[in-house]
Amino acid sequence: MKVALVNPAWSFDGSIYFGCRHEHLPLELGYAKALLEAAGHEALMLDGLLQDADNAALAARVADYRPDITVVTTAPTYLFWRCAPPELRVPAEFLAALAGRGGRTVAVGPHGSATPKPTLEKLGVDAVIRGECEETVVALAETSDWSQVDGVARLVDGALETRGPTMASPFVDHAPLVWPREWLANHPHHHHRFDEGPFVGHGAEVEASRGCPYDCAFCAKIDYRDKYRRRKLEHVLAEIDGLIAQGVGYLYFIDEIFLPQKALLEALIERPVVFGVQTRIDLWKPDLLELLGEAGCVSIEAGLESLTEEGREMLAKRCRMDTPELAALLVKARAHVPFVQANLIGTPTDSKEIVAHWREHLIARGVWANDPVPLYPYPSSPSYRELWGLPDDHAWERAHEHYLAAFDRFSDIQDERPRPLAELEDVCCGARA
Ligand code: SF4
Repeated sequence: MKVALVNPAWSFDGSIYFGCRHEHLPLELGYAKALLEAAGHEALMLDGLLQDADNAALAARVADYRPDITVVTTAPTYLFWRCAPPELRVPAEFLAALAGRGGRTVAVGPHGSATPKPTLEKLGVDAVIRGECEETVVALAETSDWSQVDGVARLVDGALETRGPTMASPFVDHAPLVWPREWLANHPHHHHRFDEGPFVGHGAEVEASRGCPYDCAFCAKIDYRDKYRRRKLEHVLAEIDGLIAQGVGYLYFIDEIFLPQKALLEALIERPVVFGVQTRIDLWKPDLLELLGEAGCVSIEAGLESLTEEGREMLAKRCRMDTPELAALLVKARAHVPFVQANLIGTPTDSKEIVAHWREHLIARGVWANDPVPLYPYPSSPSYRELWGLPDDHAWERAHEHYLAAFDRFSDIQDERPRPLAELEDVCCGARA
């Protein structure tokens, strides 16, 4: 089978999307391509940003390739599945440009995972994969009878048919990925890097572990990237060595929660590369923070979320430390790592005065703490389910309306008021049954 794997040309005008808008390596498509080729299939992988191509140009390249199957993702790479743009405008635009020239069509991503029926309707694809997608893409290439493939949802005479649970990749054995040289050359972006540099070499995203053993209320990972798994160290290091040989000077570990892993950190000390991570600061001991800095970490994004114990409890953080202890660890980290950020979420327990006090405290000690961002109740998060139960066919619309209505002020990282979902999807997405 010939399979086209497409990360479309993203745009975010009017979106609530608060993830990064730069280019990132589409790891999910990279794994799928490697698995497809290992199984004897052919694959063409395209990326709008990394190849500087708009959706019409991507569609034309897919059409020239004449694939049997075209796979498009509904989030800008695995890094952002937990905070994807709610609207399906961009993948819909790509599929409209493709206009049936890509064989059978499949959408992968958080939308089809949580709400398969509206995703199928809005995009008009033949199938969606529910959950992590790489092995299931291969399973679809292996058979023409998609009704028998676990993790796949389809519309049959307008009714939803799903088979099996949402999928979790075994992940631990994923072989080292190799990216086209020109993609890396088009990836100057050092994700979430704000130190003074020097910024040497291309940027790249890698994945040493997937999932997280916690269940924070706001975290959209119930349907994918949930259970914690650690990838074989030799594969991670082989991938990193290949990237360094191709001119990469900065790595971003997309791991939900970069847990202390001494062997990985010790291996990184010897390598000419610096890196960034997202983690929970309460899981690090002072000596390991020192090792993290020694290994080349230049950016830590730590999810503190709330500055009060009640707030952290409300968000189900399961954090055993109090705020002064957490602040002290962040300051300790900053002694070894040049950029440390404490992520904050707007919670009713945290008064303006508390927020101002701790932000000043941290910023004065070199730790960045953002103005608290509002919480978006993604359909794959416990927050959504606590508010409204299991996601139904209007889950994204409901979450979006709630988000727009519940907050009268928006974070300093959002510079325009987001638009309603129906408006964002009006032009591109097909009429819903
Ligand atoms: S610790 Fe981070 S990744 Fe884990 S559930 Fe909480 S927010 Fe999600």
